[in-house]
Amino acid sequence: MLWKGRRQSDNVEDQRGQGGGFNLPRGGPGRFRIPVGGRSGGGMSLSTIIILVVLYFGLKAFGIDPLQILAGGDGGVGPGGGQITDNSGEGTGAPASDEMKQFVSTVLAETEDTWTGIFQAEGLTYEDPKLVLFSGQIRSACGFASSAAGPFYCPGDRKVYLDTTFFQQLDQQFGASGDFAQAYVIAHEVGHHVQNITGILPKFNQMRQQMGEAEANHMSVQVELQADCFAGVWAHFTGQKGILEQGDMDEALNAAQQIGDDTMQKKMQGYVVPESFNHGTSQQRQTWLARGYRSGKLSDCDTFNTPI
Ligand SMILES: [Zn+2]
Repeated sequence: MLWKGRRQSDNVEDQRGQGGGFNLPRGGPGRFRIPVGGRSGGGMSLSTIIILVVLYFGLKAFGIDPLQILAGGDGGVGPGGGQITDNSGEGTGAPASDEMKQFVSTVLAETEDTWTGIFQAEGLTYEDPKLVLFSGQIRSACGFASSAAGPFYCPGDRKVYLDTTFFQQLDQQFGASGDFAQAYVIAHEVGHHVQNITGILPKFNQMRQQMGEAEANHMSVQVELQADCFAGVWAHFTGQKGILEQGDMDEALNAAQQIGDDTMQKKMQGYVVPESFNHGTSQQRQTWLARGYRSGKLSDCDTFNTPI
């Protein structure tokens, strides 16, 4: 990804090395990748909400070229016009972690621009999420989390939490290397933020409290695959800006393959338990990421009313 020299988001909170409340007593709701929210919604079903969201983003956008809006919202820099600085000329001797922060901040900024454009096309305002970089453990509105839990989004404080050592794990343990594999992970978490502010996540968290485990897992898969599809939508518009390099999308698709529930379970425990899947199989994750990427349309990301 040709990310150097592009805008970096101000919404990154660097809490690395601060311990994240290491000494505080454990308790609270524990770790949830998508924690249960306390807010209860109206009487609408999740399907109804999804249809409304799809209507928002699909029908109302009919006849509008979102690309033009996106290009216009990109600070005057047209597609492909981003400055690209020389690798060796920047930040002499800057530690790798700082470069990682720059990379994360740039990817986050790209998601802000893309989602702002998509929301604007519907007359809506996109509210940026924050992204917290941490190391070891972190305290969020969703309770405590350790790096071992992987990156997550907390709807309660609207923040993405990321320990960038996860990217090493992604590379070395899961065999998913490349900067765009990492960008996909960030875009997936931002996808959860989009689900949160459009009402999908609160509805899911409310509904799953009345569900059995198997049913809740199935709906969790639908939520996760939609976040993958949203990441694909983001990649679609990022590609239109001319900042994707050859092989970038393959890196993201490979990451989706490697972190599929079946592939992960096979690797970690040697066998698979399909009823316990809550993120989707490798094939499902690849399919939905590719689907969003191909069309760039949110209406193609309706995992709730489409066979997954
Ligand atoms: Zn997720």
